[in-house]
Amino acid sequence: MALLSVLQYPDPKLRNKALPVTVFDDKLRQIVDDMFETMYEQNGVGLASIQVDIPQRILAIDVSDSRKEPLCVINPEIIHREGIQYEHEGCISFPGVYEKVERAAKLRLHAMDLHGKSFEIDAEGLLAVCIQHEMDHLDGVLFIDHLSRLKQERMRKKLEKIRRQTF
Ligand code: ZN
Repeated sequence: MALLSVLQYPDPKLRNKALPVTVFDDKLRQIVDDMFETMYEQNGVGLASIQVDIPQRILAIDVSDSRKEPLCVINPEIIHREGIQYEHEGCISFPGVYEKVERAAKLRLHAMDLHGKSFEIDAEGLLAVCIQHEMDHLDGVLFIDHLSRLKQERMRKKLEKIRRQTF
């Protein structure tokens, strides 16, 4: 296992689009292991492959309190959405900033597991938010894109300030 380096906004590579996974081999298992290790180390609830510069459609998710319920999602597709929720979101590529984003309240996800087997799950609450946020990454979409221009500007300024304090 190895920690991967996470791209930080505004790295243009965060705008790349990921391609479907077609080969389910040891190399894929290694990528997924490394993604989970990286996500747990960063205290995130989700990580998309694009954030670690791997342009394949892979998500590592764990919204449990125990941090011991990893959900590996490959080639995800939302096949049903219902309702609206409006909750604060953060992102490992935007450390230290949080903003409310409008998302579907409930969804049904169709995806594949590590072995290429299809599965479906119903999600709501934080898990539904996380799935939608991470799936956006696979298409080069960031949570800042869902905000008004004013809020985007405010978030950029806040990020600059945080970076000045950190480095
Ligand atoms: Zn994110």
